[in-house]
Amino acid sequence: MQSSKEKSLDDLKLRLAVYDRPSSLRKDGRRVFVHPADVSGRFTRLRHILFYILIAIWAVLPWIHVGGRPAVFLDVPRRRFFFFGYSFDATSFWLVWFVLTGVLFGLVFMTAILGRAWCGYACPQTVFLEGVYRKIERWVEGNRNERIALDQAPMSWDKLWRRLVKHFLYILVSLFISHMFVAYFVSMPSLLEMMTRPPWEHPYAFAWCFGVGAILYGNFAWFREQLCLVICPYGRLQSILLDDDSLVVGYDEKRGEPRKKGKPKEGEVRGDCIDCGRCVAVCPTGIDIRNGLQVDCIACAQCIDACDEVMKKIGKQPGLVRYDSLRGLRGEVRRFFRPRIAFYVLIGILLYGSGFALCLSQPRVEARIVRLRGLPFFVEGNTVRNAFEVHLINDSDWKRTFRIHAAVNGGEGSVRIGDEETAVKLVELDGWKDGRVTVVVRTPLEKERAGKELKVKVEADGDQKILSAPLLGPNN
Ligand code: SF4
Ligand code: SF4
Repeated sequence: MQSSKEKSLDDLKLRLAVYDRPSSLRKDGRRVFVHPADVSGRFTRLRHILFYILIAIWAVLPWIHVGGRPAVFLDVPRRRFFFFGYSFDATSFWLVWFVLTGVLFGLVFMTAILGRAWCGYACPQTVFLEGVYRKIERWVEGNRNERIALDQAPMSWDKLWRRLVKHFLYILVSLFISHMFVAYFVSMPSLLEMMTRPPWEHPYAFAWCFGVGAILYGNFAWFREQLCLVICPYGRLQSILLDDDSLVVGYDEKRGEPRKKGKPKEGEVRGDCIDCGRCVAVCPTGIDIRNGLQVDCIACAQCIDACDEVMKKIGKQPGLVRYDSLRGLRGEVRRFFRPRIAFYVLIGILLYGSGFALCLSQPRVEARIVRLRGLPFFVEGNTVRNAFEVHLINDSDWKRTFRIHAAVNGGEGSVRIGDEETAVKLVELDGWKDGRVTVVVRTPLEKERAGKELKVKVEADGDQKILSAPLLGPNN
């Protein structure tokens, strides 16, 4: 039976053994929990500023209203999506195609030029892990060496309270993030109201807050970089998205090799790399960038800052590890414009241009027309009656007045809206309410109805939507 001291020694040997080819996975397939060392430098500063800007935008958006509506809000029960004053319902679902292909295309385009900049600077996994959870860990358990020592130490009061405090803070942060996430689906005022009431009055929202919080906690407390390495499909696609001219984080082998520790002997030929291992120690995915471009690299540039610091100390030029293309690292000239980029720009203009134009052409009045249930038409003496229902939706916070104007298009006929023989009617709706109004059309029996239709113009707040429905009868 192995004593705990022998076990931790074995563990340490395994930990050191993986430095043959550092990674967050051991040779036997087990995981090495990565504890990156602290690093400072221009890229680390830039990333952290960006992290806090992104977190602030994400946390503030649910509180902002544009035109009386939440700025970004996916109203699941009403099947509506609000985006900076525009609202889309299920009939606008085709726009999702533009959004998804647009996002996908944006990522492909950005990767071809900037490599994995998204992963290192803006992916929520990196933003929250590096900007929040890792900070908590550093604050409670100390620097890299202290954290590794704590991991390997047997349970003690010191270890216990640090673990309890760390996980308590993780849970608090996870619940905060999950509530902010749910606010995008139930709106912030509703979420705040729900939080003052018992969970059984809003079981779905509660389950989502709790479930998302649990996933976030599991991911950021334990799974971490493994999500990028084994789950994220974007990371897996790097080999086809990058080319020799894409920007990557790379090690200048020509300059760095042959690497060697210690002081150089008289006349010894050496590269600039002093094999200090600092670039490996700071890496959040636990890899060695000197082994070349790897799928595990999220282009966070921490190794650049770390190596620049080392180069500065030993009086050498920074940039041994740097942002460059594979071509640039080979000493060739990097090409920015290439046929692939020109093709992407063309597709991007077409895709985003048509998407924006279609978005802007969406009316801000929500109304639909449907034929009333039952027979499609009625013959009454020498007239034919067609009956419809106009569904009006007020998707704003305030009371709105809808002006309905109905007319027979392309022929004779009388129109009745609601209970009145009128072609024009005003309907008032309170904020977030909808209403239904019947429209009955009578046309002469002997007349041909082919091509004739009911046209309904619905106006509100200076915008309008035109609805139409065919008129049916015994002749068609
Ligand atoms: S930090 Fe720089 S000098 Fe140190 S091992 Fe890495 S590449 Fe070599
Ligand atoms: S190799 Fe460098 S850029 Fe890549 S993940 Fe590690 S530290 Fe970040």
